[in-house]
Amino acid sequence: MPPETGRVLLVGAGPGAADLMTVRALRAVEAAEALLYDALVADEVLALAPAACLRIQTGKRAGKTSMKQDTINRLMLRLARRGLNVVRLKGGDPSVFGRSGEERAFLEAHGVAVDIVPGVTAASAAAAQFAFPLTHRGEARRVAFATARVQDGEVVEAGWTALADPQTTVVLYMARDAARAAADRLLAEGRSAQTPALAVENAGRRDARAIATTLGRLADTVAAQAFDGPVALIIGEATALARGVEVAVPEPARRSA
Ligand code: SAH
Repeated sequence: MPPETGRVLLVGAGPGAADLMTVRALRAVEAAEALLYDALVADEVLALAPAACLRIQTGKRAGKTSMKQDTINRLMLRLARRGLNVVRLKGGDPSVFGRSGEERAFLEAHGVAVDIVPGVTAASAAAAQFAFPLTHRGEARRVAFATARVQDGEVVEAGWTALADPQTTVVLYMARDAARAAADRLLAEGRSAQTPALAVENAGRRDARAIATTLGRLADTVAAQAFDGPVALIIGEATALARGVEVAVPEPARRSA
């Protein structure tokens, strides 16, 4: 290992509202000299950085190109070696679909120390805001944070059998465009079509919306919404307790011709 030069903080910005950041995350952002932030980081969080702080956006939403991971890694390395206080700011928790493992490995291999500040992940923000638990005695004994990689309309990963367990709350990240494939797979693995489900957009923010549906109708529900913000799909009995949600209107039964 090369001698240590510099340090990078991987910081969870939480789901969007600045007051859902940890105090440690707030202090890190307030002391940042270089801030590399993902597209999901809200403006009110970025506004907490000092005026003189170098700000670099690394991700763009809505299909626009993002910076390549390797470019981000090298940029962090260069800034850290200059002795700057580098903060890599990510939406939610950096350890949940946040590439923290890869970024840590790269930086440490180049002699840069890494510390992680956890954040409120989208699942926790959604549960808090819409008043349902992720675990619930007798109904939901497990929680799975998952994502679905889809090829030719089908989820390609193995290991989904566990997600079909009726006592598991499944939170699907990055799944808006994979909703149909993911729901089909859960049904094929034996999860009931009647399982309550939610599509939650902008969890933790003022403009959050949750649409209540069932696993059987989840894909149609998602397709019928023009979601603009980040969306988490949450499937499981515990989501039936959600409050303040919109209820998806079922399609009228089609008459046979
Ligand atoms: N590290 C983040 C997840 C990054 S992956 C976290 O812990 O929350 C990006 C995905 O997270 C989005 O596609 C969406 O599925 C989910 N997500 C992130 N923020 C969200 C929010 N405020 N509301 C709903 N889903 C969100």
